[in-house]
Amino acid sequence: MKSHVKAVVIGGGVVGCSVLYHLARAGWTDVMLIERSELTSGSSWHAAGGFHTLNGDPNVAKLQAYTVQLYKELEEISGQSCGLHLTGGAMVADSPERMDFLRLGHAKGRYLGMDTELITPSEVKAMFPLMDEKNFVGAMWDPVEGHLDPSGTTHAYAKAAQKLGAEIVLRNPVTELTQDADGTWNVVTVNGTVRCEHVVNCGGLWAREVGRMVGVELPLLAMEHMYLLTEDIPEVMEFNKSTGREMIGVMDFKGEIYTRQERNGVLLGTYEKACKPWSPVTTPWDFGHELLQPDIDRIAPSLEVGFRHFPGIEKAGIKQIINGPFTFAPDGNPLVGPVQGLTNFWCACAVMAGFSQGGGVGLALSNWMVNGDPGFDVWGMDVARFGEWATLRYTNAKVRENYSRRFSIRFPNEELPAARPAQTTPLFDDMVAQNAVMGDSWGLETPLWFAPEGTEPKDIVSYRRSNDFKNVGNEVRATRERVGVTEIANFAKYEVSGPGARAFLDHLMTNRMPKPGRIVLTPMLNEFGKLIGDFTIANMGAKAGSVRFMIWGSSAAQKYHMRWFEQRLPGDGSVRIHRFDQTLVGLAIAGPKSQALLANLTDVDVSTSAFRFMDFREMAVGGAPCMVNRISYTGDLGYEIWMQPTYERLVYQAIKEAGEEFGIADFGMRALLSMRLEKNFPTWYRELRPIYGPFEGGMDRFVKLEKNDFIGREAAAKEKAALDAGQPMLRRVSMIVDAVDADVMGDEPIWAKIGDTDYGTVEKPHGYGAPRFDSTGAAMQATAKSPSSETDGDASAVLGLRDGDWRVVGWVTSGGYAHYVQASLAQGYVPAALAENESEDLFEIEILGKRCKARINVEPLFDPAGEKMRG
Ligand SMILES: Cc1cc2nc3c(=O)[nH]c(=O)nc-3n(C[C@H](O)[C@H](O)[C@H](O)COP(=O)(O)OP(=O)(O)OC[C@H]3O[C@@H](n4cnc5c(N)ncnc54)[C@H](O)[C@@H]3O)c2cc1C
Repeated sequence: MKSHVKAVVIGGGVVGCSVLYHLARAGWTDVMLIERSELTSGSSWHAAGGFHTLNGDPNVAKLQAYTVQLYKELEEISGQSCGLHLTGGAMVADSPERMDFLRLGHAKGRYLGMDTELITPSEVKAMFPLMDEKNFVGAMWDPVEGHLDPSGTTHAYAKAAQKLGAEIVLRNPVTELTQDADGTWNVVTVNGTVRCEHVVNCGGLWAREVGRMVGVELPLLAMEHMYLLTEDIPEVMEFNKSTGREMIGVMDFKGEIYTRQERNGVLLGTYEKACKPWSPVTTPWDFGHELLQPDIDRIAPSLEVGFRHFPGIEKAGIKQIINGPFTFAPDGNPLVGPVQGLTNFWCACAVMAGFSQGGGVGLALSNWMVNGDPGFDVWGMDVARFGEWATLRYTNAKVRENYSRRFSIRFPNEELPAARPAQTTPLFDDMVAQNAVMGDSWGLETPLWFAPEGTEPKDIVSYRRSNDFKNVGNEVRATRERVGVTEIANFAKYEVSGPGARAFLDHLMTNRMPKPGRIVLTPMLNEFGKLIGDFTIANMGAKAGSVRFMIWGSSAAQKYHMRWFEQRLPGDGSVRIHRFDQTLVGLAIAGPKSQALLANLTDVDVSTSAFRFMDFREMAVGGAPCMVNRISYTGDLGYEIWMQPTYERLVYQAIKEAGEEFGIADFGMRALLSMRLEKNFPTWYRELRPIYGPFEGGMDRFVKLEKNDFIGREAAAKEKAALDAGQPMLRRVSMIVDAVDADVMGDEPIWAKIGDTDYGTVEKPHGYGAPRFDSTGAAMQATAKSPSSETDGDASAVLGLRDGDWRVVGWVTSGGYAHYVQASLAQGYVPAALAENESEDLFEIEILGKRCKARINVEPLFDPAGEKMRG
């Protein structure tokens, strides 16, 4: 065992071996994997070995597609078989709602370039004869699905890594991790200490314990999971013989089961409702290659439905039941990336589908470690997406909820109840008393909308417009016509101070920093010129000789942004940064009467000339010390008022009392998001994400290329030059959609009638691309059924599927109903050459399988000149 390497990977499951391989492939060959026992001594050895590309997050789906495509390469490099069976698979729907869900998945697949197809139950039966097709209404076919040999695959990664020079040390538990003052890690093992620059936690079932070695409580929990193997089934053998094919995999949502052929019988696994965590607090170190006791009673309800749906399986004898643990994060996606607050401590854990996701996780993490950036939009699996509120008990409740809902439909307006309320503001009881329907915003209870008195404050979950529609409309109209108040405690808030504060922010942000008492809006870019943040920054003036800036940003990205800020703080202590979290809360008032309302609440002159649009002041409001921004995400005349939580009730009550004469109304987050749509304002994480540049994202006026220097400037300048030269690229647009009863939810494909017009390829640096993957399945196309859809042969082109003169040219990022202007609106990305074309007949957006006419609206529908906002 070497005593010093560049990086140590802890854990020899499929994920650790993939990370090791990808690091070596990226050029870091001086790397070592340390495994407690033998390779695959955690979850990996008893996995069912299924793989698929579909995932609710298109960016995670893209990495899953990469994983599947990698196996051939791995086999060639390592000489080790992965035991691949690329059978294809079908998700079967038993109800119209489930069919809507599949239609959505299929539509998403269109812009990802996936060859999914909607097919009939009889077509599924022709590929999986054990089912009774009468139980189903339809299905979605995915050719890039199958199963493999988990142990062979893990060893293939390991051998391929070793061939590239990586070292693997077995039977050697890591017992302690310490860090020297210079940042060097000491990985203490039973057989000695290895010093290294980077440590990667791939501890799988023990990832929590490895995290605890460095004082971090990672939000993950292992769940027991069962699958059964049947004896030989004559129908299966007969099918194999007559068709020359293996049966496909089938996922049955109603039965909460997945099933596929295994030898001459089938394998059938369940995600049962009565699920059971395993070792909820600590994982025993002596657990290894043993299995857990099967508990057939627990999965009996799923089996009952499953056997009814698949009578051919019921007749077969059960040969073996496997029960093994594997880990999940609260939302079911992996935890990947550098851990905030530590240097060079990385994790790749909670990978619940190691054989679908392991390759993508390894690729993204190795990119991140070697190049400083994952190269993909990995927000959906970034370890920074969880805050301090994701404690052990929170994780336990959420993981159980997630597991038991694995096959449930998640509706776009559905809030999940487990582990709530977690954090509340002082107004929580007031909001509940006013019949607010509350939502979870990064662990904080936030009012979404207000249900009428006497009705239950609850969403009727649906893909279509629902019971909030009329009420959100009322909240919007009250705000636009009079004045509204809402709680905005969920925004992220930071203070940056010290003599170096201005220079620090100037280097990080694309806009110029404001003068004292003024506010700017500014994106933040990474080195590749991609959007990694969007902030409101106020200059608070100097205090005790020190400049202070307040920053507001996206709630969910607080840890992600703190990690970025901290990594770039100068070492001389000249800049301090503080994240307020819920020690600072906020209320927003907006609408034509908001200025008069504020005037009644303060003794400061707030007339338009004294307190201008984009001004910042510290002032007393309703008798409480506050900070006030003259700015509003509603796009209307409005103010954001910030205070310590101890003052929030006082300020809120003062606003409500003084607002009475103006007919004030409370509004929730849904009304706020509806109002921002009619102003064409983007949102972080939907329109603005690390796959887009600032000019693509339409943030032009906030990017000051002539400013000295800022991170990503060079790439942004190139992007601007490309835009000016008319080179192919994407642009964010806003569209009016001819929707009937369902508005866009995000990720719908945008079709355009462009015939053979070629908008060229879009050059994306460093692996970033439009969210479609290259011809993943081309070499591995399932033989069972060839897709009828015709795909664009050019893997680097943005354009996707074709239907006559119509082609998929882009995708929706978000949208909904804009109540004040009474239009269904969508935002999304299309080729820049089309972005200002307001033609009526050019675009269609596919909503729940139906293509609706859409047209671009370049100017916002509400107050296009911004006169109301400026007052
Ligand atoms: C019954 C069952 C069925 C499944 N079916 C599928 C499926 O069909 N498809 C799919 O994709 N996934 C499936 N999974 C999930 C899959 O097994 C996991 O996603 C995957 O194994 C996770 O791999 P890992 O490398 O993260 O963790 P693990 O496999 O748990 O590996 C972690 C490794 O780290 C080592 N380690 C931990 N701590 C230390 C330390 N301190 N020092 C040294 N070494 C250490 C352990 O010994 C272990 O070998 C299934 C799981 C189960 C239980």
